[in-house]
Amino acid sequence: AHEKIKCRNHQTQTTCWDHPKMTELYQSLADLNNVRFSAYRTAMKLRRLQKALCLDLLGLSAACDAFDQHNLKQNEQLMDILQIINCLTTIYDRLEQENNNLVNVPLCVDMCLNWLLNVYDTGRTGKIRILSFKTGIVSLCKAHLEDKYRYLFKQVASPTGFCDQRRLGLLLHDSIQIPRQLGEVASFGGSNIEPSVRSCFQFANNKPEVEAALFLDWMRLEPQSMVWLPVLHRVAAAETAKHQAKCNICKECPIIGFRYRSLKHFNYDICQSCFFSGRVAKGHKMQYPMVEYCTPTTSGEDVRDFAKVLKNKFRTKRYFAKHPRMGYLPVQTVLEGDNMET
Ligand SMILES: [Zn+2]
Repeated sequence: AHEKIKCRNHQTQTTCWDHPKMTELYQSLADLNNVRFSAYRTAMKLRRLQKALCLDLLGLSAACDAFDQHNLKQNEQLMDILQIINCLTTIYDRLEQENNNLVNVPLCVDMCLNWLLNVYDTGRTGKIRILSFKTGIVSLCKAHLEDKYRYLFKQVASPTGFCDQRRLGLLLHDSIQIPRQLGEVASFGGSNIEPSVRSCFQFANNKPEVEAALFLDWMRLEPQSMVWLPVLHRVAAAETAKHQAKCNICKECPIIGFRYRSLKHFNYDICQSCFFSGRVAKGHKMQYPMVEYCTPTTSGEDVRDFAKVLKNKFRTKRYFAKHPRMGYLPVQTVLEGDNMET
């Protein structure tokens, strides 16, 4: 299959060959196009991809072990297909040992290689940058979000731990290729990463270089170009969440997945599928503030939300239209309605 990927592309130059299982997977993502919010739509597609590639089983330290074992240190250097296959084989062999029967090593290697080439080698030259390889694998592995940020920052930072605009640009460029491949890049500010780089350095009071802590603070604001990654983590966390609440629209109870609680009406909750498809109950306006939960609420959160509803109870639709603080999404993605694919 690896040879097929190579040869086929040699002959056709521009045509990207997809493994039949990959084609199947991409086709299966089409049903997520009815999710109205781009960050969620992208994240849910990535979640499916992540599981199909078994990267949801891969810890960050196991990934790093494999990178080290294959001497992937010079991040700006290129690696060829064979090097990619060798490193992926190490990764999946270990996953197979740790998760008996769950991991089909040759299939996973093929599919992951296929995905990496689709993301980082659209012209099919048979080479990708080491940084790209690491960014792809680490973005979809099962580590904590901030550990991923820290790791990725370190890959582009100088030995003393600082990052200038060019280095940050490399990281953001390689990151944005992941939603781009799904046809979603327009929702994250387009493939031009300059505005994002500028935003980070403005956040740093225009210092010439930023350090990891500052980069992390900026990432916590969920900049538009990177919001798909924290949302992917919330999508994963919500999968198994069970909320003791009833959906006011479809009456699902308990609510499984994301729960959206109104901060305008008491006891008004919406489940994930109703929220994503844009259904609203009578008397509830889209402008009304809601709060998203991917895990069951704590009593502290219940009290806090109760107080907010008291405050909002007599505020009008116009008030909320003037103060569009949604609390669960960056404003840009809420306003963006149609998906960008054809
Ligand atoms: Zn519902």
